[in-house]
Amino acid sequence: MRRVGVFVCHCGTNISATVDVEKVAEAAKSMPNVVFAMDYKYMCSEPGQGVVRDAIKEHNLNRIVVASCSPRMHEPTFQKTLDSAGLNPYLLEMANLREQCSWVHTDKEKATQKAIDLVRMAVAKVSRNYELFTSTIPITKRALVIGGGIAGMQAALDIADSGYQVTLVEREATIGGKMAMLDKTFPTLDCSA
Ligand code: SF4
Repeated sequence: MRRVGVFVCHCGTNISATVDVEKVAEAAKSMPNVVFAMDYKYMCSEPGQGVVRDAIKEHNLNRIVVASCSPRMHEPTFQKTLDSAGLNPYLLEMANLREQCSWVHTDKEKATQKAIDLVRMAVAKVSRNYELFTSTIPITKRALVIGGGIAGMQAALDIADSGYQVTLVEREATIGGKMAMLDKTFPTLDCSA
């Protein structure tokens, strides 16, 4: 059973000046699978992350939506928060209320409505998320370059100069590609071959 928690961030006034964050948290409470929603001043702060951890335990949450800034900024932060609370870090979705909403709008009513829609989408997405696990696979540090034209030859040389073994494959009897068919090249009139 999905038990989604939604955490709406003020980001000081970065979000709350343009988005009615209390209203967004209130609207989230009636979304499917949501059992807990709240707003908080600075969600990424240590106390903010503590609030998420406590709510996971207290309300037995198994899916989290953080409605704050871009995932580029803080997705790893909140993934670690989930991990430290015993939840798989991929059971997190972020709704970007800052870069994609408060920073690009001025009409508070419309921005708030858009923020509610963004949260609704994140809740729908996280409800379908499965646990994911990272794994490490050993790789062989050798390269295969297909095509012995000028680009293939240069790529093979660059990789070899970086210290890796390269195999260059060419379907014709000779390498050089189109370049080898030319006589001279502009502007130096060097012999192409
Ligand atoms: S989580 Fe993002 S939006 Fe919230 S306070 Fe931190 S930087 Fe600002």
